[in-house]
Amino acid sequence: MTQTETKIRSLQDLAPALRTKEGGGVSIQRAFPTTRIEDLDPFLLFDHMGPLNYKPGESTGFPPHPHRGFETVTYLLQGVMEHKDSFGNHGVIEPGDVQWMTAGSGLVHSEMPGSELIRKGGTLEGFQIWVNLPKRDKSKAPHYQDIKAASIPRATSPDGLTEARVVAGEAFGVKGGVQTHTPILYLHFTIAPGGEFTQAVPHSYNALAYVFRGEAQFNGRSAPAGRVALFAKDGDAVSIANHSDAPADVLLLAGEPLGEPVARYGPFVMNTKDELYQAFEDFRAGKMGELD
Ligand code: MN
Repeated sequence: MTQTETKIRSLQDLAPALRTKEGGGVSIQRAFPTTRIEDLDPFLLFDHMGPLNYKPGESTGFPPHPHRGFETVTYLLQGVMEHKDSFGNHGVIEPGDVQWMTAGSGLVHSEMPGSELIRKGGTLEGFQIWVNLPKRDKSKAPHYQDIKAASIPRATSPDGLTEARVVAGEAFGVKGGVQTHTPILYLHFTIAPGGEFTQAVPHSYNALAYVFRGEAQFNGRSAPAGRVALFAKDGDAVSIANHSDAPADVLLLAGEPLGEPVARYGPFVMNTKDELYQAFEDFRAGKMGELD
């Protein structure tokens, strides 16, 4: 082995996700930002939607709203989401699929449960993460990367007890296929009881892990579902284990900070206040398109 110089990061905080509502009243658990974890450059937001059990005709989603200056990343676990935008794009996101949307210069979109889920009821669960764009990319044309579940690379830990779905970055020697504007790790680990592994996270990255099934251990501290492990920037790997007797699911999010000024209001994330005002003006003037 040549990994003698790997240093495991310490745990800076083990914080609860915040329960709140978004869009048309969708219950979410917000891993970040919260009062405990305010800043995780280059990420802007990390929401765990549901799981929501809807009765027929009861389900809600995210009616038309704009975005400019960043990316929204949707990873669906259960149910179906339908996506439409003001440039005529339309997509269906199914369990295990990832939609990596670069809003760039701006668009208006809706994110709603699939029509059958609305009609018959059912369960909806997924993640939405907002990734900031560097100044140089904030005005690029909107762009989508749609990755079906079967196309997301999977990798297995050396002990054979952890499976990683590699959305972005690299785990256990397997690379994800998403093109990111800055270096990012987006990894979903399913850890069988007794599983334990280390994951390389470059020293400069901000990093957190969110437990959403079962219970995981970070540096000996236990975190049940709904907890966020914030890692200190004092090493180049993180250690994750499952010492319980049931499987655990953990989402690891890490990235190279942009280190640029952030002017943020609602659905717009720019570098200056003037750019924010401009975003509102452009939206009102219909320059991001219309969607009924
Ligand atoms: Mn949106």
